[in-house]
Amino acid sequence: MSSTNDKSALFISDIHLSPFEPATAERFLAFLAGPAQAAASLTILGDLFDYWAGDDDLPDPFNARIITALRNLAATGVAVSFMAGNRDFLVGDAFAAAAGISFLPDPCVRDVAGVATLLTHGDTLCTDDADYQRFRCQVRDPAWRTNFLALPLAARKTEITALRQRSENEKKIKPLAIMDVNADAVVAALRQHHVRALIHGHTHRQGQHTHTVDGQPCVRWVLGDWGASRGAALACTTAGWHFID
Ligand code: MN
Repeated sequence: MSSTNDKSALFISDIHLSPFEPATAERFLAFLAGPAQAAASLTILGDLFDYWAGDDDLPDPFNARIITALRNLAATGVAVSFMAGNRDFLVGDAFAAAAGISFLPDPCVRDVAGVATLLTHGDTLCTDDADYQRFRCQVRDPAWRTNFLALPLAARKTEITALRQRSENEKKIKPLAIMDVNADAVVAALRQHHVRALIHGHTHRQGQHTHTVDGQPCVRWVLGDWGASRGAALACTTAGWHFID
């Protein structure tokens, strides 16, 4: 039997919304208008958008439609929160206000159905990819952000397209293993934050893994990416955690 007490905490990531993938957007909008409405909360762990060039792109019709749908969900009483990913780290306060979401820092520990859980986008755990970590440090620098956001919107979009093309080319020659999380980095993060559960996205490798930290079993849930015909949420209640389509 269902009651308000067993409403789910839902987690998603890596939807990679883009006007060039309309079927994925429709799937996401149907999720917001459907299963998400029955949840207690929806937590988006990054890469909601394929890229975000800055909050002055809010009026773009595609963006406006997504933001309205998020705001409508929040208006029903579902707590919607967002952690930036590597694709949408330029999301800012104007976006949050328009969408009715609250920001989560990366990483953070939150109570998930009674379990203290580490939440992160996941890219900081991919420590084997040294080139990527250098790039991440550069673009997450506040001075870089300020300078980049001072460029005209069109120039930012051109620059992002060039960066993404370079990243796609590099991915083709990178071994698959270095784009996954590093097991030692996972153990270190769990130990540092004194938790036994972790939820992250970024790698697109949906699954559930166990790690042993100082003799204690820990669980790591990896959120999958979304597409025209796939896209799952992790649903957490005190009765258990599982993926739902
Ligand atoms: Mn990512």
